[in-house]
Amino acid sequence: MSNWESNVRKVVPYTPGEQPKASGMIKLNTNENPYPPSPKVIRAIREFDAEKLRLYPDPTASVLVNALAERYEVKPEQVFVGVGSDDVLAMCFLTFFNSKKPILFPDITYSFYDVWADVFRIPYVTLPLDEHLCIQKEDYYRENGGVIFPNPNAPTGVLLELSEIEDIIKHNPDVICIVDEAYIDFGGVSALPLIEKYDNLLVVQTFSKSRSMAGSRIGYVFGNERLIKYLNDVKYSFNSYTMDQVTLAAGAASLADEEYFQETLHKITATRERMKKELSELGFTMPDSKSNFLFISHPTVPAKELFEALREKHIYVRYFDKPRIDNMLRVTIGRDEEMDQFIAFLKEYLC
Ligand code: PMP
Repeated sequence: MSNWESNVRKVVPYTPGEQPKASGMIKLNTNENPYPPSPKVIRAIREFDAEKLRLYPDPTASVLVNALAERYEVKPEQVFVGVGSDDVLAMCFLTFFNSKKPILFPDITYSFYDVWADVFRIPYVTLPLDEHLCIQKEDYYRENGGVIFPNPNAPTGVLLELSEIEDIIKHNPDVICIVDEAYIDFGGVSALPLIEKYDNLLVVQTFSKSRSMAGSRIGYVFGNERLIKYLNDVKYSFNSYTMDQVTLAAGAASLADEEYFQETLHKITATRERMKKELSELGFTMPDSKSNFLFISHPTVPAKELFEALREKHIYVRYFDKPRIDNMLRVTIGRDEEMDQFIAFLKEYLC
């Protein structure tokens, strides 16, 4: 081995879901929104004056930060934005998880958390979800270097009550608690109001799911002014221009179309509830999801086998070859027509 090998920061990277290119495929594998972004977003991008690209974007991303502050009724100083919530979460790990004590997160959760912990050399302990795939709040009442969990959790879709989240935050006044609300708009109650009450809380959200803008890469976090200042200090020590000009305009345009946002959410949650019923009728079981995906398993058909059979028909869902969840499939809620085809395939496969 060459000498330089011993000085390389070696990591096992996160594996993003597949982005297949097959035409006519049904893509239910990465929790994208099946509907387009708001027409206002499309217009903002079309009307963007490309000559402006000569200039650096506003490093403070004020158009977007101010639009978020207005929409969510907080001060602009309580908002930090980044290139998708992945970027925002990575910045949060780097900024706030610097204790020698381990950070805590569930054993079944977003599989990027352990990757960031490893890349930043943050010790961590995972806490098992219970047999119903629920977070046990009491598990988080122990010494630690920080707490993070998604709400609803992914890939389970299970929502934790706000009162339980508040209990976790209350029990951890000396560390930062991050609630990752990537899927909150599909039926959860946000922990956002709690940032006024707890100075150790960060609430992370994204434009990737509920706002149909995964391709734009916009994430944001709410917290008290001091936390946001610390995040900005780290950002400016890393890369001042994280958000490009087109994306800033598109993001602000999305926030200006509340009606379209609500309409899209309504369509997805209605399809999800219909799917819960239809899949149950086919014998599937699943935890009660409040997100834009279902985490399903069947008593007789192994998940891996079904995953491969679906794939052959260009119906893509997500399979995790991991302990405790290797007999489950995560299925994103698509358009009604797509879900009908998915169900039709299952009916044929199961009979
Ligand atoms: N958190 C959770 C729980 C997720 O599932 C995802 C999507 N992979 C993200 C954060 C990151 O989403 P994005 O970077 O697109 O905002």
